Amino acid sequence: MSTIELIAYGVAAVLVVIVAGAYYRLRQLPTLEQYRAMHPTARHGSGAPSCYKCNASNILIDRRGSRSGRTHICRTCGTTLWRS
Ligand SMILES: [Zn+2]
Repeated sequence: MSTIELIAYGVAAVLVVIVAGAYYRLRQLPTLEQYRAMHPTARHGSGAPSCYKCNASNILIDRRGSRSGRTHICRTCGTTLWRS
């Protein structure tokens, strides 16, 4: 096996680990229903969900992982909150 092949396999292995890790983390995220159940106080008067860490309601929808779903992230403290 040549050095080039070794590097190619190494890069491929790293990519697989990164993609699998991202997918695993997304699957670990609760859905909105689960998030509401987990953090019943993380909501505003209107019923809109808010960040369970800082209580901000300014939430970013991240579609970068659009094939496997969207993640909702607090714009104030950066916490990943739930998936949809
Ligand atoms: Zn927050």
